[in-house]
Amino acid sequence: MSNKMDERLESMYQDVLRRNPGEAEFHQAVREVLETLGPVLAKYPEFRERKIIERICEPERQIIFRVPWQDDRGEVHVNRGFRVQYNSSLGPYKGGLRFHPSVYLGIIKFLGFEQIFKNALTGLPIGGGKGGSDFDPKGKSDNEIMRFCQSFMTELWRYIGDTTDVPAGDIGVGGREIGYMYGQFKRLTSRYEAGVLTGKGLDYGGSLVRTEATGYGATFFVEEMLKVRKDSFDGKRCVVSGSGNVAIYTIEKITQLGGRVVACSDSNGYIIDEKGIDLDLVKQLKEVERRRIKDYVEYRGHARYVSGGNIWEIPCQVAMPSATQNEINGHDAKTLVKNGCIAVGEGANMPTTPEGIKVFLDAKISYGPGKAANAGGVATSALEMQQNATRDSWTFEYTEKRLANIMKNIHQNCYETAEEFGAPGNYVVGANIAGFIKVAKAMVAHGLI
Ligand code: GLU
Repeated sequence: MSNKMDERLESMYQDVLRRNPGEAEFHQAVREVLETLGPVLAKYPEFRERKIIERICEPERQIIFRVPWQDDRGEVHVNRGFRVQYNSSLGPYKGGLRFHPSVYLGIIKFLGFEQIFKNALTGLPIGGGKGGSDFDPKGKSDNEIMRFCQSFMTELWRYIGDTTDVPAGDIGVGGREIGYMYGQFKRLTSRYEAGVLTGKGLDYGGSLVRTEATGYGATFFVEEMLKVRKDSFDGKRCVVSGSGNVAIYTIEKITQLGGRVVACSDSNGYIIDEKGIDLDLVKQLKEVERRRIKDYVEYRGHARYVSGGNIWEIPCQVAMPSATQNEINGHDAKTLVKNGCIAVGEGANMPTTPEGIKVFLDAKISYGPGKAANAGGVATSALEMQQNATRDSWTFEYTEKRLANIMKNIHQNCYETAEEFGAPGNYVVGANIAGFIKVAKAMVAHGLI
């Protein structure tokens, strides 16, 4: 189900379909942006003349490579590695690496495409890129993870650098994986180039608040949306999907702001705890022991685990999807709205399907799309790069204040841009247009490259 598009944009979209067959998620991400750009082309004829949209849809460079590694029994495995260097108009390519069995080129391209606009919205000098592998970290030993990361970096190192391309984490890639990849980069290059990766450990060039940043930032964004409605998190019943890095720090910040998170999940099922999720327990299970979320109920007798259930059926006022793409469909969105949900903030990338987005927009609830709401992670990565460039490290308080300010500015920019382009309250329009215009102007300035 798709909305009507400007004729010129529709034909550009058809070209994207033809040139990138079989990449459904990439098509979805491109369509969602192009659908909102009609008024921009009308206002800026130079973007049309210079074929900015056609150029922005085509990655500057795509790297695909073999990643062989050995498991603990000595058996050989072969995975595929990717790095899509999408757009460097505003700065070095910047974006995470995703290790998950669902990864293929279409996933990395959708993520890289979104990253261009997200990074532009941060107001910081970073271009857009993304990478990863179809490697499944689930159930792997620490040594297997290390060998995989080393093999991955043995190919990737020649394409990255602090002024060219700066990877970080995403699903399946956290502090441990970044550490192994940084170690291998350092060994292969004989250089201590801290700014080549972000999400590093605090002992070797990482930034305070980077671990918390995506979840905290998404929560700050929702707080801003609630302020517009003359409301706040205080006393709100919230549901956060996922139980990884983004979900954990979303739950933490919501709780600090007076909200109560009653449910979270993993790919097997969800837990519901009416007293409010015990975050220390979730952190211990997921971050330290790397266990499944169902184990939560072993320690909290009153909580319930629902295997394979649909977390969006739980009534809530604020929903923060923080697991993965397309986790909220049209039906789920209708259920949320019917149950009284007034705000949705996306911690994950593209967690809502086009049908779901339409439901939220039609219902006029506050809907913060991922490329705006979850920009706090990559923004804090850019702050980590600043600290590395000046060989400095900032305090937690100062860095969190910078993050909160960035999220406030992103919200305001999206809000005002939506008004300016005739779609008040529509953060999809605001985020897409504000991000696009910034990149497009830089592309015009750089000439035909
Ligand atoms: N993977 C995160 C994102 O989707 C963070 C990327 C980064 O820090 O470079 O934006």
